[in-house]
Amino acid sequence: MNEIYKNIYQIDVTLPKSPLKLLHSYIIRGEDRNLIIDTGFNDPKCKDDLFRALYELGIDLDYTDIFLTHSHADHSGLVCSLLTGKNKVYCSDIDGTIMNEILSDKLKDMVNVNLDISSTPAKRRLDYKNHPAMVFIMDNVIDYTPVSEGDVIGVGEYKFKVIDLPGHTPGQCGLYEENHKILFCGDHILNKITPNIIFWNFEEDSLQIYKNSLEKVRNMDVKHLYSAHRDIIENHVKRIDEILLHHEKRLKEITDFIADERKTAYEIAQAITWDFGDGDFEKFGVQQVWFAVSEVLAHLEHLRHKGVLEKVEIDNETRYKKL
Ligand SMILES: [Zn+2]
Repeated sequence: MNEIYKNIYQIDVTLPKSPLKLLHSYIIRGEDRNLIIDTGFNDPKCKDDLFRALYELGIDLDYTDIFLTHSHADHSGLVCSLLTGKNKVYCSDIDGTIMNEILSDKLKDMVNVNLDISSTPAKRRLDYKNHPAMVFIMDNVIDYTPVSEGDVIGVGEYKFKVIDLPGHTPGQCGLYEENHKILFCGDHILNKITPNIIFWNFEEDSLQIYKNSLEKVRNMDVKHLYSAHRDIIENHVKRIDEILLHHEKRLKEITDFIADERKTAYEIAQAITWDFGDGDFEKFGVQQVWFAVSEVLAHLEHLRHKGVLEKVEIDNETRYKKL
């Protein structure tokens, strides 16, 4: 546990079976109430790590609210263990709804639709029950307090303003402290790894929404950027530009590969460059295949929304070709 700023503690929560390895949970100690940002998976090891930190800091959960940056299980899974009946959970209404819906089996459709549209072959399809969102899901539906852009959560000397940062999930939020130029950004901007951007539906261009949120933070005065995984980012503008470039390169690689043909998202995922594992898509586990094809679909839909590609249905398969 590190005090990274006055009364702000960064807690390393181990994420079992995850390539992410660790989640940074943050605890902000206030005078009347404290705040925990993100929780870790619903898993005994995560619980150990977080509760040890709470104990060491002498935090009373009755006086401690919880802010979830987004719905993913590594950020929200443990939330029910922190509830006492006297504290609040803040999150966006969009991601709060998603979290609660996943418990009612909606994840099955959310997982399968990406596998269907991408034409992922049967032997490489992830069973939704093995998706991390399902394996490490919170215990019960939660009664959250919805927050959105501009809402203020005061903790001690800090006044955190909610900032909408959609892209990695439809309702991801950050917390910005104007006087100290601190931004807690969840998974919006990560060091070394690029946040996973996936296909949501055919109406929304998730990659464009993400790029808009990157531009938004790029224009903000941020001195201390605290993200949920990996090392602290010293220069947010430089890192944002690297992430934007990564997506531009991937868009070009996809367009070049399609050339004058009609390709499925799975065929594209097999062909493009990956920086996961040793980069060999054929060796990816089914979980990683799901994330990869979902990421390819987000890029394909971005190109379709931009008028570069069109989507065609051939023999019950969704293929993309140049316009
Ligand atoms: Zn995460």
